[in-house]
Order: sequence, then C-alpha cells, then structure tokens
Amino acid sequence: TFRSTVRAPGARKQVCVPVLEHFDTHYGEQLGQRWTAAREVLLHPRSWQHGVMLNRFAAPQDVREQLLLQGFSNLLPRSSGSSLQCFVHRSPVHVPSQRHQAGQLKQYYLLNAASLLPVLALDVREGDRVLDLCSAPGGKALAILQSATPGVLHCNELDAHRHEWLVKTLESFVPQTLSDVLKVSNLDGRLFGKIEAGAYDKVLLDAPCSNDRSWLFSGRPQHGALWLRERAKLPELQKDLLRSALEAVVPGGLVVYSTCTLSRAENSEVVQDILSSCPNIELQELNELALSFAHHFTFDPNTPFGLLVVPDYGRTWGPMFVSKLKKLC
Ligand code: SAM
Repeated sequence: TFRSTVRAPGARKQVCVPVLEHFDTHYGEQLGQRWTAAREVLLHPRSWQHGVMLNRFAAPQDVREQLLLQGFSNLLPRSSGSSLQCFVHRSPVHVPSQRHQAGQLKQYYLLNAASLLPVLALDVREGDRVLDLCSAPGGKALAILQSATPGVLHCNELDAHRHEWLVKTLESFVPQTLSDVLKVSNLDGRLFGKIEAGAYDKVLLDAPCSNDRSWLFSGRPQHGALWLRERAKLPELQKDLLRSALEAVVPGGLVVYSTCTLSRAENSEVVQDILSSCPNIELQELNELALSFAHHFTFDPNTPFGLLVVPDYGRTWGPMFVSKLKKLC
C-alpha cells in the first residue's frame, strides 16, 4: 500500500549555496516572478510530486485500482487513446519503488511526470525506427515502449555505469519477447551522425544537462564551483549531440531535444544556434501538447523554440525543456 503521508526524499541534503546564488542571478532575471515559486519548490524536496508510470507488460490492474483509491488520476485520459498510463496526485504522496525480483517484471516506474513530454512530442508510432541517444537510466525509453511498439528502439548511453543501469532497467520492465526490437549500446552519441546517418525515423536527445534539481543539493561549496565550470561547457556538447541526432534521421525525420534544466543557454539558445546554422531544419509547433497539459504543468510563456515546464506551487513538475525539430532534406 502507498502511504499518503509526505516523505522527504533528500530532505536532509544540503543546499549548495554557490549554485543557489547562480540560479537566483540567472533564473531571477530569466523567469521573474515564476522563479520565486520554482525556487521554493526546488528547495523543498518534501513538496515534490511523483508520477507513477504503469508497465503495460506487467498487467498492473491492481496497482491501477490502488492508485485510483488513493486519489491519483491518469495524466493521459483514456480518451487520448494512448496506452501510456502515468498516475499523478495533487500532493506529494510517497510511492515506494519496486525491488527487482527474478523472473518478474516491475509494475511501475516513478518519474517526474514532465519527463513524459519529450516522449509525447516524439509521438512514436508502430514500426518507427527510434534512437534514444542518451538513454540511461531508461525512463524515457520505457515511456516510448508504453506508447507504441517501434520497429527498432536503439538505446545508447556513454557512461559505463549508467549503461549498466540502463540494461538493468530494460531487463526489469521489458519482456524477452521484445528483445528483437531493443538494441543497447555504449557509445559517444556524437558519433551517430557518422556511423548511423539517416538510419532512424525519430531520435530522442534527452541531453546531458546541468540538472537543476540534483545540482542544487550537490553538497559542499567546492562542488558548486566545479559544477559552474562544468555547466559552462554543456551547450557545446549539447549542440554537437543535436547535430549528430539530426544527421541520424532520414529526410522528413523528427528529433526531440530535451533537458531538465531551466538554463536558457542549454535550452532555447542551443536550438536557436542549430536553426541558424542548418537551413534544412525546421522547428515544429508544440502548442497542442502545451494546451492539453496546461492543467497539470506550468509553462513559461516567454521561452522561445520549445516548451519550458517550470516547477510551481502544487504543480512541482519540471524543470523540463522540450523542442521538436524536423529534418526537411
Ligand atoms: N533519457 C534518460 C531517462 O529518461 O532516463 C536520462 C538521460 S540523462 C538526462 C543524460 C544522459 O546522457 C546521462 O546518462 C549521461 O551519462 C549521458 N551522456 C553524457 N554525454 C553523452 C554522450 N556524449 N553520448 C551519449 N550519452 C551521453
């Protein structure tokens, strides 16, 4: 059973002051009043809501019923026709994560519900050839498999430990019968544009980013200084990965770029740079997606080139930036 008491994942973790100061300067200027709410949420892990994505391969009818009894509701109403089911609650109800049990698939995966937006934007259809370029620990790969059965789902992850974690996630949630669909690799995503040019219909680039939630609690101040140095290097890596992703799709193919930071330099500015240097790339509208989730997520109205979910009081989802690009030729 799920406890409806609030728990504090990471509540005892220490806030890294240089990181908070950096956020105050940059996000205060970028988001204005919206930063006040986002700051409150980010600083109080006790307030964080959790999404519960059901695993359609484990037939979790009992879990579904229990969630409904506890006051959870499905983020994607049945009328949406999606087989992806993610349950959310207005309060930060604690749901335990499931342990691995040999021979049994896990019934649900816990996530920040805004992480489903990149997957929904990618709109994978039966038979699509899909590349998840930066895949570990595998949450979005699982969400793709909940939505449809692609012809191929290639999950790639550079970091060796995170690659192992990815393999474990896939083993715990995906049945053996899908083994011919899944491919897992351990490569630098920047290589795919060369080694697999034009091989995919759709690519998800859920990019390495400065991950505002975890860096805020990165501990001692010296970690903050290291973080700020690393953060400055990220936009170049993100642009290289995005160029590689765009080369890996066929003409007419789609790439979704996402991050879990509010940083303009890692979000809109990355996309803007690609659009201004690649004339064959077209930005795709995401207005409909934003409209259908407006009652769950708070979007920043001033973010260009994509959608930005900003954590808000009682809607603690995000940060999440999503942008969708089409390769014309
Ligand atoms: N998509 C994942 C999910 O939903 O569970 C989260 C991905 S996380 C935001 C970004 C990942 O990119 C990290 O696991 C990181 O190790 C990996 N990464 C960093 N640099 C990379 C590169 N050059 N090529 C491929 N993966 C990389």
